[in-house]
Amino acid sequence: MNYQVDLNGFYGNYGGAFVPEVLQEQITRLQEQYLAILQEPDFQAEMARLLADYVGRPTPLYYAKNLSEKYQTKVYLKREDLCHTGAHKINNTIGQILMAKRLGKNKIVAETGAGQHGVATATVCALMDMECIIYMGALDMERQAPNVARMKMLGAEVRAAQSGAKTLKEAVDEALLHWIENPDDTFYIIGSVVGPHPYPDMVARFQSVISAEITKQLVDLEGRSLPDYIIACVGGGSNATGAFYHFLEEETVGLIVAEGGGKGLDSGQTAATSFLGKDGILHGSKTLFMQDKKGLPVEAYSISAGLDYPGFGPLYAHLKEVNRVEFLAIDDDAAMQAGLALCKLEGIIPAIESAHALAVLDKKKFKPTDVVVVNLSGRGDKDLHNYTTYFKL
Ligand SMILES: *Cc1c(COP(=O)(O)O)cnc(C)c1O
Repeated sequence: MNYQVDLNGFYGNYGGAFVPEVLQEQITRLQEQYLAILQEPDFQAEMARLLADYVGRPTPLYYAKNLSEKYQTKVYLKREDLCHTGAHKINNTIGQILMAKRLGKNKIVAETGAGQHGVATATVCALMDMECIIYMGALDMERQAPNVARMKMLGAEVRAAQSGAKTLKEAVDEALLHWIENPDDTFYIIGSVVGPHPYPDMVARFQSVISAEITKQLVDLEGRSLPDYIIACVGGGSNATGAFYHFLEEETVGLIVAEGGGKGLDSGQTAATSFLGKDGILHGSKTLFMQDKKGLPVEAYSISAGLDYPGFGPLYAHLKEVNRVEFLAIDDDAAMQAGLALCKLEGIIPAIESAHALAVLDKKKFKPTDVVVVNLSGRGDKDLHNYTTYFKL
């Protein structure tokens, strides 16, 4: 089995680059150049230096003794929550800003939903002295005010998307429009393994540092490079892809995805794409996403802002089709309980997104000798209000 994109940017039946005519030239140029740029020794050296000294990599692979006792299996946590800015997203924005520089661009545009990708983008723009424009739904700006403040502190201009539901979809539309109007000097930094080819593959490569580290760390900790299982949450799929990347072809490694189940699969308030999604074109690639009768994306819901996306990247549509990954829908309550349990057992407050991955430990039984790696995609500081309201603390 092969889980890499083909020359046209497809994973099996999914992927590709469906973009408006005016962006064709930019996308084609990126497709033609990204692999060569990634392989330049200069690029690799600068990326490695920033990941080490700025982001704080390698992140620990922590043996969680108390969790392991509770679940009677060996649980390791990959600590992406310890990255600068609090989540894995910075691995990707560092890579893309270096790519933008190599392509001679000096302006960055991005969209953000909950604000996490916006903050990671504003951070690297400050670092590289690039102009940064972030589109965010007007409603999201109200709901995620602390992240708006962070972006402003970092020097970004945050523009409110006022149309439609005033959330992520409108922000994507306006960011794309901005790019269409400014294709020559502007680079579009996408925040997950979504969008037209080559973005899903490029983001996967930038995040693959996670599984590269896990391989090495497991040799030291367990005397073997392969775990038995890896568990990760999926919104668009970038932290999961990073954690799975070097294990995709190793069929003995079980890969488990936790999706935002929201209030339940038939509640109409969910983000469980693998269960409810249909084939279609979303944000420039063919993938699975939840649709209304006309084939338009419906609004997704999850208690976690990072998981409430109606689709996921094309790699996940492919992994589902070939049955390489087990998908579980984790509902809000299960995720919140798993998040609180990690606080009490290990003294770590996880992002609510990551708590969905932790909740898998309650759903599935593992053997005492199994090595189970949970990708802890981010820290829970941003979610404190949500947690304390939910638990009436
Ligand atoms: C954004 C985010 C996610 C979801 O995005 P993916 O691309 O699926 O990784 C998960 N966890 C955290 C902490 C996030 O900020």
